[in-house]
Amino acid sequence: MGDSLEQLSTAIGLLDTKFGNHKLSSLYKTKAWGNTEQPDFYNQVIIYNTSLRPQQIFEITQQVEKNMGRERKEKWGPRFIDIDILFCGSMIYYSDVLTVPHPQLHRRRFTLEPLCELAPQFLHPVKNFSLKDLLRLCKDDLAVERI
Ligand code: AMP
Repeated sequence: MGDSLEQLSTAIGLLDTKFGNHKLSSLYKTKAWGNTEQPDFYNQVIIYNTSLRPQQIFEITQQVEKNMGRERKEKWGPRFIDIDILFCGSMIYYSDVLTVPHPQLHRRRFTLEPLCELAPQFLHPVKNFSLKDLLRLCKDDLAVERI
């Protein structure tokens, strides 16, 4: 919702204040996943170097979403910002609220395309496939446009 590009740059600015320097993928425009009767989504992947634990990272990303006024009205509905934790290095982590690697990332072209731009050889620690191979195997046919 709102000006997507501005929301993204605000979110990245807030995350930078917590995590420091980043490596940023290009911006990708995607048709809305799940509920297609809504505007396109913009997706971007960021890599941060941090020694924080997954739960601590999650608390920060939740806080940034909250600060940006995220409203959770409908699953897959329009939102100001959605911050997902895709990987924490090669760590595998499960809790009531958080699963890392993100359990859907290998199913979604809009996460795999930007991930592959940054780290094509990175090995998914659960799937045991590189990101490049996961993208090759991905059956998601929603168009993802690098912009
Ligand atoms: P959504 O906003 O639809 O992406 O769902 C967010 C919810 O998914 C959060 O409230 C988390 O409890 C849960 N979740 C589980 N694993 C993750 C993850 N790796 N990154 C972000 N949210 C996660």
